[in-house]
Amino acid sequence: MNAETAVPELAEPNLRRLLGTAGLDVEYVSGEGNVLHRRTADGSLTPVLDLAGGYGSLVLGHNHPEIVARARELLDARSPVHAQFSSHPYANELATELNRIIHRELGVSEPYYATFANSGAEAVEAAVKHAELDRGLRLSSILDTIAARAEEARTAVLSGAATVPAPVYERLGVTRPARDEDGVALLIAEAERRNTAVAGRAPVLLALEGGFHGKLIGSVQLTHNEGYRAPFAALGLRTRFVPMDRPDVLKEVMEQERGTLYEIRQRAGRVEVAEHDHPTYCAFLLEPIQGEGGIRPLSRKFAEDIQQFGRDTDCPVVVDEVQSGMGRTGALLASSALGLRGDYYALAKALGGGIAKAAVMLVRETRYRPEFELVHSSTFAKDSFSCHIALKVLELLEAEDGRAYRQATERGEALAAMLQRIGAAFPDVVKEVRGRGLMQGFEFHDQSRARDARLAEAARSGLFGYVIAGHLLHAHGIRTFPTASAVHTLRFEPSLLLTDEEIGLLDRALTDVCQIVREQASERLAVP
Ligand code: PMP
Repeated sequence: MNAETAVPELAEPNLRRLLGTAGLDVEYVSGEGNVLHRRTADGSLTPVLDLAGGYGSLVLGHNHPEIVARARELLDARSPVHAQFSSHPYANELATELNRIIHRELGVSEPYYATFANSGAEAVEAAVKHAELDRGLRLSSILDTIAARAEEARTAVLSGAATVPAPVYERLGVTRPARDEDGVALLIAEAERRNTAVAGRAPVLLALEGGFHGKLIGSVQLTHNEGYRAPFAALGLRTRFVPMDRPDVLKEVMEQERGTLYEIRQRAGRVEVAEHDHPTYCAFLLEPIQGEGGIRPLSRKFAEDIQQFGRDTDCPVVVDEVQSGMGRTGALLASSALGLRGDYYALAKALGGGIAKAAVMLVRETRYRPEFELVHSSTFAKDSFSCHIALKVLELLEAEDGRAYRQATERGEALAAMLQRIGAAFPDVVKEVRGRGLMQGFEFHDQSRARDARLAEAARSGLFGYVIAGHLLHAHGIRTFPTASAVHTLRFEPSLLLTDEEIGLLDRALTDVCQIVREQASERLAVP
């Protein structure tokens, strides 16, 4: 191609070049199940075993025939994709079916109301936005009560029906004037001053270290990875990151963030001061298994600690199941195995069956604010196409009394057993194998001080996992990547169609990789 006819590269050329350094800038032209076909230099197609699984969106594989057939049916029937502001029975059917499954998994019957979205980050942001609307309404209701009680106290004192005992002044640091009529006004003004300062504080969001919740303006401030978050910190939320398995930090947060709202009221002819806890917290976000943070399961104990923190502080828990949910761990919700009950859930990725862009945020009834429906929407969310596809996905997961869940569990165990065997055979190379079901992580020891200069350099620049991924692709026809925030951990998130033969292929490929790393022999890597 000469320079005049060359197509300019305008769609993220920098990223493509970076992928190119590890040989990962290949083009895939078709996909089925766990297999993608990539175009090689001579124009022919070659199969690749896809274990990146669309980072979790492909629990049923690429182009599942029944999902494709349903998509065809919908298009052939000229089903109106966009009919905003009308009745959406299919969206209701989807919400109902999600509720039925969630109720079964959690053993509860309280409804969860659904707000639809287009992506995982958007579902997370809708949850946070709803939580903030709810917090604001709770705060207003407390302030309204305080204002009404203050008025009653003032009237009672002015009419001589109540007096102000001296300790009440001391309590709020107000100098006692000669007359209680003046005193009650001073007390009310002082309480108001204090309340205004506390009520004006930015809400506290809590998230876990290592967590990932998206890259939009709001959600990126809940994503721990500094590289993604820090450049945009000035735009956003106030988030405190909590390390895993540290209930002591939860206690510390509770002490540091406590805020009090003061109420001046009268009881039996005496004015007194009462206290309300300020609703300080907007939400606590967590993933039951951190995906981008290196496939790190949350412990049952810490899940309980967080749930208790939520109860103690009236802080809603948002369970981000965007990557872990939709059957991958043997249940619709990975968190159901932890005994966790979310106030909110975010689901996306596999909800769209690998074809549609679908996401949903669920809120439990006790926290639900119907007003939210009037202040939140998106042109593309809740469209008939994505809702019908998501219904098909649920039908496939639920068929034959949940055969798909059992398959995910069994295939996940077979995959994990193989990864554990390799980990045990190469303890000098493999730091840890972690995960649940079809969500497995394979962490290498840090190679930044390796003898092999190329491996050391790759590790120091954060590209070690990508260099290994390039070798897996070119030497073994396997596609996977490191997780976004833990770049020494390779992720394996295949579909539940994973075969023993495919596990065998990965076994041989990882054995080869571990031997190269053990022998510090980067010259054997397929990508120079
Ligand atoms: N939450 C989690 C747990 C995720 O893994 C991701 C994506 N990796 C997101 C949110 C964001 O989803 P999306 O890319 O669809 O915006």
